Amino acid sequence: MLNHRSVNLIFPLLFILLLTLDFKIGISNWFYPMLVVFKFAVMFWGSYFINSNYHIKTRCDVKTDKKEIAITFDDGPDKNVTPALIEVLNKHNAKAAFFCIGRKIEGNENVIKKIDSEGHIIGNHSFSHSNFFDFFTTGKMKREFEQSDKLVFDATGKQMNLYRPPYGITTPAMKKAVKEKQYETIGWSVRSMDSMQKNEQKLMNKLTKQLKPGAVFLFHDTWPGVVPLIDKFLTEAKVQGYSVVRLDELFKINAYKNV
Ligand SMILES: [Zn+2]
Repeated sequence: MLNHRSVNLIFPLLFILLLTLDFKIGISNWFYPMLVVFKFAVMFWGSYFINSNYHIKTRCDVKTDKKEIAITFDDGPDKNVTPALIEVLNKHNAKAAFFCIGRKIEGNENVIKKIDSEGHIIGNHSFSHSNFFDFFTTGKMKREFEQSDKLVFDATGKQMNLYRPPYGITTPAMKKAVKEKQYETIGWSVRSMDSMQKNEQKLMNKLTKQLKPGAVFLFHDTWPGVVPLIDKFLTEAKVQGYSVVRLDELFKINAYKNV
């Protein structure tokens, strides 16, 4: 499998191979910078594509014949959008996973309590969701995870077990932090880009085209438009014979460590 460890083993071997070839038959000097560029390209691919499993084993979907999907919301909670969304989810009898940002939980503890009491689950999405999160050290990431864990624990009495990397970017430092905290890392198979696509019909067409057994959909409970969008999407999913299963049940894993 192509992951960070195997790449770190392969590239020195390739370098030695180039040196040997250069010594025996003579090769263009361009091969050396090309090797470096190739290595950075592989690392970029591995860090930016969460389903690559390059740094961290990440659950993005499930192989199944059953017409079941999971839906997830990132970057909340929002004091208005999240409760409105919960109403719509309840109307469709659908349970979702909310990957919350710690600093947004502060002051919105009642929203966190509502997510939990209505039967949805909460996952860790860092405390700051900083643009520079992927440059943080293992220690700094761990502190952020623990800050968010404590906020959710204080509100619900539950210890989060699921983690979704901010921006879906993974790094070697994050791998260590996740291992020490023993989280299950969660990705997605369908990224809706919901808050960017302003044409609702286009977005709906894109989403319904990607309805597949075992798919995990990513939305954001940060913009009001997600509420009617989810209402329509869940109606269409049902028409096509799909049912929404809570993420932890789809993957058959624990949403929390202490229950
Ligand atoms: Zn996010």
